[in-house]
Amino acid sequence: MRTVVTGGAGFLGSHICDYLLDKGHEGICLDNLITGSTDNICHLMGNDRFMFLKHDVTNYNFIDGDVDNVLHFASPASPVDYLNYPIQTLKVGSLGTHKALGLAKAKTARFLIASTSEIYGDPQVHPQTEDYWGNVNPIGYRGVYDEAKRFAEAMTMAYHRYHGGETRIVRIFNTYGPRMRLDDGRALPTFMGQALRGEQITVFGDGSQTRSFCYVADLVEGIYRLLVSDETMPVNIGNPEELSIMQVANEVLELIGGRSRIVRTPLPNDYADDPKVRRPDITRARNILGWEPKVTRAEGFKATLEYFRSGLEEQAS
Ligand code: UDP
Repeated sequence: MRTVVTGGAGFLGSHICDYLLDKGHEGICLDNLITGSTDNICHLMGNDRFMFLKHDVTNYNFIDGDVDNVLHFASPASPVDYLNYPIQTLKVGSLGTHKALGLAKAKTARFLIASTSEIYGDPQVHPQTEDYWGNVNPIGYRGVYDEAKRFAEAMTMAYHRYHGGETRIVRIFNTYGPRMRLDDGRALPTFMGQALRGEQITVFGDGSQTRSFCYVADLVEGIYRLLVSDETMPVNIGNPEELSIMQVANEVLELIGGRSRIVRTPLPNDYADDPKVRRPDITRARNILGWEPKVTRAEGFKATLEYFRSGLEEQAS
């Protein structure tokens, strides 16, 4: 199997590359490194089944030889990142998806798009099932990510229906683990970084907003099962254990200890459309893929903390 992973130097993309290489695939990683990093893939550089090409996938993608799978994971993906790169986010979700689908079509390869729970917006159906169409503000700050991913799903279905392409759509819910950036602005790395540095832990609003956090190894397993399945309709992959952001802050503080305390800060202006609740209904993944998350939050938080701690120690030395 020869598999192209766009965004392969990012948090999720690099874990996907690891997984595929373990399965015996040849991996071709495309990344323009605006939010990804070669630090995430440097351990693969000596592997003769791995190739990295620094490339912006919104431009034509040329790959020599046969390709069996194209996995489109390129995109800024944390709110802070897509607010910093709004145009690139819209372009990679639209033009980039088109180019990645074009590559898959030219190679008669299977295509998988990394979609997101953000396509449900601030949901009015809870937990979110795949047949819910969502509640998205197209012109809000988050619209750049949400609408790009909604367009990407529409484009993927069009290639499936019109060109008969083998396509898969995974809707990824909040995921965490090693190789997240401490400065990506997401709640978990932010809280862990703050606690490790002995700073205040900044909970936005009253902290009652909820999320459901999936450990990256579980997520990658679910994505691989979807890739090799026959399912062409979207599938939610995420951990259905829901908790408030205040609870996340408390668990981080308990785990790390130290002199940090939790403070409530007003929701930043560009977080106006911050979803108030989020939890995947994973019935479809359970039934079709026989998948459900296995890693407990205690295990996952510990592994993630160790990664951040050693990163900070390296920085300091
Ligand atoms: N959040 C917070 N403090 C921070 C960063 C985020 O309270 O320093 C909140 C944010 O408002 C949101 C939740 O944590 O309600 C999850 O945010 P994250 O950026 O991790 O993910 P997403 O909003 O994409 O689910």
